[in-house]
Amino acid sequence: MAARIGWGWRLAALIAAAVSILGRPAGCQTPLPDELRRWSELRLDDLGRAVQGLTLSAGHLTVVLTTGHAARVLAGDEVVGIFLRGEGTLEYASADPIEFPVVRNNVRHATGLKPLDPKGQPVVRDRFNELLWLAADAPLPALPAAVLRTALEDAFADHVRKFAMVHSSPASHEFAARRLNGVGQPFVRAEFTGGAEDLLYEFDPGESKSESLAALRKSSWVSHRYDLNWISDQPLGRDRRDPMVPRFILTDVDLAVTASVAKDVTISATETLVGVGADSRLLTLDLVDTVYARSAGDERRLRVKGVFDAAGNAVPFDHRSDEIVVALASPLARGRSMTLRFEMEGDILHSPRGDSYWELGVWPWFPQPDLSGQYYKVHTVLKVRKPFVPFAPGKTIRRVEEGEYNLLETRVDKPVQFMVLVAGRYEWVEDTKDGVTVRVASYAGKSPNLKRVLKLAHEMIAFYEPFLGPFPFDEFNIVEINQWGWGQAPPAFMFITSEAFNPLGGEINKLFSKGINERLAHEIAHQYWGHVVKMPSYEEQWLTESFAEMSAGLLIRQLKGKSDFEGLANYWRGRAEEAAGVAPIPLANEIENDANEIDRWYQRTYLLYAKGPSLLNSIRLEIGDDQFLRFLRSCQATFAWRFGSTKMVEAVLDKLTGKDWKPFFDAYYWGTALPPR
Ligand SMILES: [Zn+2]
Repeated sequence: MAARIGWGWRLAALIAAAVSILGRPAGCQTPLPDELRRWSELRLDDLGRAVQGLTLSAGHLTVVLTTGHAARVLAGDEVVGIFLRGEGTLEYASADPIEFPVVRNNVRHATGLKPLDPKGQPVVRDRFNELLWLAADAPLPALPAAVLRTALEDAFADHVRKFAMVHSSPASHEFAARRLNGVGQPFVRAEFTGGAEDLLYEFDPGESKSESLAALRKSSWVSHRYDLNWISDQPLGRDRRDPMVPRFILTDVDLAVTASVAKDVTISATETLVGVGADSRLLTLDLVDTVYARSAGDERRLRVKGVFDAAGNAVPFDHRSDEIVVALASPLARGRSMTLRFEMEGDILHSPRGDSYWELGVWPWFPQPDLSGQYYKVHTVLKVRKPFVPFAPGKTIRRVEEGEYNLLETRVDKPVQFMVLVAGRYEWVEDTKDGVTVRVASYAGKSPNLKRVLKLAHEMIAFYEPFLGPFPFDEFNIVEINQWGWGQAPPAFMFITSEAFNPLGGEINKLFSKGINERLAHEIAHQYWGHVVKMPSYEEQWLTESFAEMSAGLLIRQLKGKSDFEGLANYWRGRAEEAAGVAPIPLANEIENDANEIDRWYQRTYLLYAKGPSLLNSIRLEIGDDQFLRFLRSCQATFAWRFGSTKMVEAVLDKLTGKDWKPFFDAYYWGTALPPR
C-alpha cells in the first residue's frame, strides 16, 4: 500500500501548511495497457451461490464465511477473486516481535477491536458481512454449483466504490504492476466490511515483501475519502533491519515551473530513471492530484496533460489517489536509464491564511518514487509573476527579470530528496564565508533581525564542519514562513517560522523563541543528517531527526555551556520515558490514536526527537566525547551522499570501538527499553 510510504510527506505537509491530499481519478489521454484496464473494471461472473464454511487464508490471516453467498470476480476473462456476503469471521496475528508494542497500542487506541494476546503474540479478530478477496498468482477455492442463487452486483458495485475512496494505492495499480513487472509471486488483497472495523489486508511476498492490516477511517478533513489506521505491517522473507532495494531510482530532474501570483502553475518535469532492481514495465510514482488549500472545500487539482518518452511519443499513464503509473513500451532494466517528460498544470498554489507567498513543499508535486528511489540532481527554471520573489535550492545560475516575471535558475549537483520551491513577497540579505553563501529571506520585509540570523547560521556551520565535514552545499537559503513554531530542512534550504527573526517581539514570540537556537541548529544539522546521509524509508527516520538533534545538542553545549546541554539531555530523557513503551524508535511513524491525535503526535515526536538523541547520548557517555565525534564523522564519511541504515551505523560503531553493539541496539533501538544514562 503506497500510502504507507507517503505518510511522512503527508504529515510534513499537514504540519507545514495545513495541506491535505485526496485521490481522485484524473484524465488519461493515451489508451491504458490491457492489464491495467482489466483490473480497473472488475465484475462478477454470475449470481452469488450459497456457500457454508468457506475458508480462505494468506500469510497470518484466516477467514471463514460461516454462511452466505459467493460470486467469482473477473478481470477481463480471468477469475481473480471472490466476493462474499453473509456471516463470517477473520483472524490475523503478528509474528514480528519488533512490532508487537505498536500493534497492541494501535488495536487499543485506533480500532474498536478487543486486544487479544495469547502467548504474548498480538492477535486481531473480527467478524464481517462482506469481503472482496482479490488474488494474483494465488489459488482460489472452488465454489459449489449451488442451486440457491442471489444477485450480488449492487452490493459489489457499492463495495468497489467505497474502497476506491481509500487514500492508498488503488487495487488496479497494484495488481497491474505485479503482473506487468513479472513479480510471479502471490499477491492477495482483502477488503472487509460489516464488522467492528472495515479492514484492508495485503499479503505481498514478492514486491513490498510485507503483510499488512489497516482499518478504514472516514477522513476528518475530506468527506469523500477514507484514511487508513495501521494495525500491523510485518516483513515477509526479509529482515526489517535491511533497507529494501527499489526497482529504479530517480537520478535527474529538470524542472521548468511557471507560476502566476494567484493559484495557477504549470510544471514540466523531465526525469531520468535508472533501473537498479528487477525490470519494470509499469512504473509507480507518487504525484498529488488534489490539494486542499485552506479548507476541505477549497479543493485544487494538479492535472497531468501528458507523459512523453525521449523521442516525444506519448506514454500511457493513470493518475489517481495521489499516484501515477506509467506504462512503458519496453521495460526499464537494471543498469539502464530512460527519460520521461511529465507536463502538468493546476491551481495548486495557495497562500496560507491569505499571506503573499506559496510553497511547493516536501510533498510530491512532481512524480517521485518512494524515499529509497529519490536520489536526484536537479536543475530548475522558476518563473514567478512580479512582485513575488522566487527561491529554489542549489547554486544560482541566474536571477533576472523577464517582462512580468522574476526568473530564477538553479542547479543542485548532488543527489537529493525533498526538492522544494517557494515564492512570495520576500526581501533577503546574503553573505559568503569560506565558500558558503547563506541567504536569509524575510517575509514581507518586516523582520529586523536578518543579519543576526545570518551571523548565527555561519557560526553554526563553522561549528559543524570540523566533525561533520565541509558544508554540503555552496548556497544555503533560510526562508521565513509567516507562522509559529516549526522548521523544516529541504536540501540546501531551511524553512523557519517567524520567531527566528523576531526574538524580541510580542508575547507569542517569547513563547516560541526560547528554543530558537536549538531549532536553527537542528535544521542546519539536517543538511548533514538528511541530505549527505539519507534515510531510505521512514523506519530509518531517526538517522535524520535524532542525529540532527544530537548534533544540535553538541552545538548548544559549545555556544551556551555544559549546563544548558545537561538541561537538554534531561529533557530528552524525560520525554523518552513518556513514549518508550508505545513503540520502538523505528516504528515511531506507525503509532495511531483515534481518541487522542495529540498523544499520537507527541509519542512519535518523543521517540524521534528525544529517545533517539538520548540513545546517542548514552553512546557518547560510554565511549567519551572524542570517540563520539569520531563516530559521527565516520558515519558521515561512510554514508556520504548515500542511504544510511541503522544496521550500518551499528557496524561503524563496532569497528570504531572494537565492541559488539548489537545487544545495545536490540534493546534500546529495536526494543522499547530506555538506554542507560
Ligand atoms: Zn528535523
